[in-house]
Amino acid sequence: MASGASLWCGLDYVEQGRVKNLRPVGKGAFDAEVEGSANLPYTVHVDTAHVRQSYCDCPHAAGTRRICKHMVATVFAAYPQQIDAFKWEIEQAELEYKREEEAHRAELVRYVNSLKKDELRKALLDALIELEERHDHWR
Ligand SMILES: [Zn+2]
Repeated sequence: MASGASLWCGLDYVEQGRVKNLRPVGKGAFDAEVEGSANLPYTVHVDTAHVRQSYCDCPHAAGTRRICKHMVATVFAAYPQQIDAFKWEIEQAELEYKREEEAHRAELVRYVNSLKKDELRKALLDALIELEERHDHWR
């Protein structure tokens, strides 16, 4: 339920040893203090069974139901084996993405090689016009 940014920051935080005083407070629930950008560490409570009952007193999460990087760090600290599992999953997803990219690129090469000269001219012109329009659009 955390955003991608919170996930990565939380992972950094736990690897930097910012989670202090981790203590279990029930089944799948933990309290901790997590050092953030403020002078004092944030007080964090995570409940993995009732995620929405987790809280943190940082400005991002306090008074909301957001899952912040401090909560993520606390969960990773409580379940360190999840760190490798998470990294492995990301690696697999990246490999899969790369394979799809390569397959798509090969398809594109086949398509271009199949075109006749006048078709190539038209396709190139269309691509250049589209590129120009996008460039204008972003300016
Ligand atoms: Zn927080």
